[in-house]
Amino acid sequence: MKKIFHCFMIIFLLVHPIRSTATEMYTYERMENHLKLLSHKYNLEMKSIGHTEFGREIYAIKLGEGKKNVLITGSHHGREWLTTHIIMEMLKNYTAAYDKKYSLYGHSLNILDRVSIWFVPMVNPDGVTIQQKGVEHLPLSLQEIYIDMNGGENNFKRWKANGKGVDLNRQYPAGWKEINGNTPYASYSHYKGEKPFSASETKSLFTFTEEIKPLASVAYHTSGREVFWYYFNSLENLQRDSKLATMVSDVTGYKISYPPGDALGGGYTDWFIQNYQKPAMTIELSYLVDETNPPLSVFHEEWDRNKSIGLILAEYAEKYVKR
Ligand SMILES: [Zn+2]
Repeated sequence: MKKIFHCFMIIFLLVHPIRSTATEMYTYERMENHLKLLSHKYNLEMKSIGHTEFGREIYAIKLGEGKKNVLITGSHHGREWLTTHIIMEMLKNYTAAYDKKYSLYGHSLNILDRVSIWFVPMVNPDGVTIQQKGVEHLPLSLQEIYIDMNGGENNFKRWKANGKGVDLNRQYPAGWKEINGNTPYASYSHYKGEKPFSASETKSLFTFTEEIKPLASVAYHTSGREVFWYYFNSLENLQRDSKLATMVSDVTGYKISYPPGDALGGGYTDWFIQNYQKPAMTIELSYLVDETNPPLSVFHEEWDRNKSIGLILAEYAEKYVKR
């Protein structure tokens, strides 16, 4: 029976087209379905890199045959799920083109024979789910705790943290002790946790990063159309890393955040730059929105600005970043 159901699911997924990335919000479940479909259709390596605090799988998927890797992540923050849309669109377009050996946006997909792109489209599925669905489905006693963490508000649109009220991009051991503006308790935003990597999501991403050893990395966030690339990069890497940021800025039209005022610390890319001495960028999508998610209506423009970033990252890593 289980086998029949499994076959049915595969047939269903194969005939059921992936609806437009632009018109329907990516929930965790929808992303999971699409990842399974793509992985099956194109024989992509897909794996869970760990579990969230609520036990959801954190998925990674690999595109390419290259032995070298780059890594692109999204939705460290709950309200920033537009980043998952951009990554899923990137994955879909690159996968189809790689399969047919097409070029895309002036870039040859052959780069993927040498440098693979790993995607983690949603680092924080618990936070995304709280932001999108609220907490009404939880028992009343739990709801009260979440409303408390949310500053007494019933509306969870501003939720940034993971399922336990930890801000995942303040969890990495790069200037962690000195982080400014830390909320001293679990909250919808800005609580850095008890110690670096105390959240199961950041612990999972740490282990995975150690495993695949990316030559370069992009962490997508929202909002503000800005590229953060600097975290006390060593003098010998400064030129290499700023060049990549300039390329990304030229293609996206986003402004470059200049050092050192904006080197906040505690973020994934801060840690990546410091720990590996390799380039990493935090790219903020969308025009600036207040404490909420950017609207889906901005998707087309952001996709147009970012569609070649994965390929640029892979090409750049091969050319300029030593293992
Ligand atoms: Zn963010």
